[in-house]
Amino acid sequence: MLMKMNLQPCQRCQARVALRYRVQLDATHTWVLVCSACQAQVSQGNPHYRYGGTWKARRRRKTPDS
Ligand SMILES: [Zn+2]
Repeated sequence: MLMKMNLQPCQRCQARVALRYRVQLDATHTWVLVCSACQAQVSQGNPHYRYGGTWKARRRRKTPDS
């Protein structure tokens, strides 16, 4: 059975990824979802950088018929 991956665009480079990192990049303290490459870049020497965990594309679970 094929699993449909729900790929979401990185909000910084627009790359479509299955796993995004929830981070804050600046003084506005806005949460953005970025790919791992961007996460590594924006964390370098960024005083506003804050990590809020990963954000996985969630699979829809089929509820079994009873
Ligand atoms: Zn990115």
